[in-house]
Amino acid sequence: MELLKPEKTPSLPDTVGERVRSARPCGSDRHTREHDPAFFRVLGEIAQILNQSSHEQDQLNKVLSLVAGATCSQGAALYKKSLTNGGGCRLELMANWLEQHSHSPPSACLVGLQSTDISPSQWKRLEQGESTTLCFQGREARVEGLVTPLFPDNQLSGLLIPAGMQPTPATMDFLWSVARVFELWMGKLNLEKRLTDVINFAPTPTFVMNADEVITDWNRATEEMTGWKAERIVGKGNYENGIPFYDERRPTVSNLIMYPDKLWESTYPEFQRAGDEIHSIAYCPALPGGGAFLSCKTMKLYDTGNRLVGAIHTVRDITLEREMKKSLHRSESMYRAISDFASVGIMVFDGAGIVYYNERLATFMGIHEQEISLTDFLDWIHSEDRMQIETHVNALLQGHHANLRFEFRAAHKCCLRSYRALAQLMEYDDRPAIHLILDDVTEQKEVARKARLNELRLYHEDRLIALGAMAAGIAHELNQPLNTIRVVTDGFLYGREQCWELVPEELFDGLAMVSRQIERMTKVIQNIRNFAREDRGAALEEVNANRAIENTFSMIGHQLEAHGIRVEKDLTVGLPPIKANLNRLEQVIMNLVVNARQALDACQRTDKRLWIKTGSNNGSVYIEVSDNATGIPDDCLIKIFDPFFTTKEVGMGTGLGLSISQSIVAEFKGRIEAFNNDRGGASFLVTVPRGM
Ligand code: ADP
Repeated sequence: MELLKPEKTPSLPDTVGERVRSARPCGSDRHTREHDPAFFRVLGEIAQILNQSSHEQDQLNKVLSLVAGATCSQGAALYKKSLTNGGGCRLELMANWLEQHSHSPPSACLVGLQSTDISPSQWKRLEQGESTTLCFQGREARVEGLVTPLFPDNQLSGLLIPAGMQPTPATMDFLWSVARVFELWMGKLNLEKRLTDVINFAPTPTFVMNADEVITDWNRATEEMTGWKAERIVGKGNYENGIPFYDERRPTVSNLIMYPDKLWESTYPEFQRAGDEIHSIAYCPALPGGGAFLSCKTMKLYDTGNRLVGAIHTVRDITLEREMKKSLHRSESMYRAISDFASVGIMVFDGAGIVYYNERLATFMGIHEQEISLTDFLDWIHSEDRMQIETHVNALLQGHHANLRFEFRAAHKCCLRSYRALAQLMEYDDRPAIHLILDDVTEQKEVARKARLNELRLYHEDRLIALGAMAAGIAHELNQPLNTIRVVTDGFLYGREQCWELVPEELFDGLAMVSRQIERMTKVIQNIRNFAREDRGAALEEVNANRAIENTFSMIGHQLEAHGIRVEKDLTVGLPPIKANLNRLEQVIMNLVVNARQALDACQRTDKRLWIKTGSNNGSVYIEVSDNATGIPDDCLIKIFDPFFTTKEVGMGTGLGLSISQSIVAEFKGRIEAFNNDRGGASFLVTVPRGM
């Protein structure tokens, strides 16, 4: 560009030169001077044009022509000063006007100004709010440009340069006034830019329209959602904003907030107007991906004078949300249907309260059509069980267990019923919650109670029958010591009759013999009492299987002898203990031995034998009872453990011995098996895990 740097202060008339170099005038100074009213008219016209336009080049050029006209300049330019990334500054021409018929128009010089064309000292002056002159080479002569700084928002952001101006105090005052109007206008532009940046930055699709329904902002998120770039739609009215969403010009919610139309409003589901806001759902078939459901929020915008200036509109794609809600609703209904069909009470509660319950639960609790609270639920539980339930609930919520089963009693229709609960830890709204399934087990429990009573009765009966079968043996057991006592005591009495001299040693030997026999009888009686005792359900303890065998044989051993049966015991010394109950283990051994005796009684053999053996292997202790009678027919082998299965005559067997023995051994976590041995008889193998 052709630009001549002034060698010294520009050659302006003294008064003007001084005025130009000074800082902008203060108001009082201006008021003292008389001005041409034409200046005020032009100033008003400029202000009006700038207020209405933002960037429109024609309008800006017109403003500059007015400035040039009023100041008798040959041309005028408006520059924007901005910062570069490197920290320097850049000048950008915003508008210019050049007089066509000027003899010496500054031609291109005025429009190609660079920041470096202004010297640092001139920049310094401009920063301080003072004007400075630049010399441009026109076609025929040099032209001086009066560079006037513009300070919108207190920053040097623009330069207004009339060229070839004939400065007078009045034109200078006019120029400063025009500069003020430009500053206000640039401040407004800055604000608008900031607002546009903020709207652009917002992650929610947002657009703004003015009161004439012309789109003024269309942010990046809206571009992404619609596929329509801002430049394609900003500045457009006539319902053009409907096209990206509906493929046609039509009022969107943002139009309807300013200009209500009942018919159009009815096309939007959930359309709700509240004061200056509208919330609505819109189905927009033209959106990429085959259309979408949007949640729309629109608000009217007012200026400081409370005049409607437009509306801001934000949307959120809720298609997925709606789908999820729908499928959640579907699975919830299905869950409800299943749970009601299953006739179980179901509820979900987090630490704070019940978040879900089904109808059945309400029926159990006797509550209808009312919100059930956790307190209601706990109050419903029988007071004796309540604390236990609270403990379970807390243990689950604190993550000590993943699930728990428990029972409790609660009132139902004025009577107490029993409920079984399965409680499981789950997540609800990112918080731990408990899913509880309740079943009314009152009837079930009653049936189980009766069955148990029956079982106990049968068990007891079977034991009494066994005792009956043992009666002869018991009599024999007691008879023997009694006979011995009788022989000893009768001997002494006979000696007294015969006046024999009593030797003290003989007396004491006799008494010792009597005492031993009494002790033997006491043991037999104690064993019989133990055997008849009802102790099912007693805690398990460490038991030595050999001891159980010895106790049993102390009751029945002689009976076997009397039946001509030879017993062979092979009891392992140092047998590890098992977790069992001595009395019940004796009951099992007694059943097996009595069965063997009965089988041997029924067979024709002369060498009747019974073997009983103990040992341990693989962490278990075993007891094997075998006989050499006739064994068990194959078709019976699978039935002998069934309750009431017997091959014996009425009065000889109940068919319960083996089934009860099996359930006792199962209580010890062991098992019992039957097989035919190679001696021709049957063998029963009881295996129980070691106690330690
Ligand atoms: P019960 O002895 O009252 O019949 P159990 O349950 O004790 O009832 O025995 C069921 C059946 O098993 C017996 O009736 C019998 O047929 C068969 N049984 C049990 N032990 C033996 C054995 N040692 N030898 C042959 N059969 C046996």
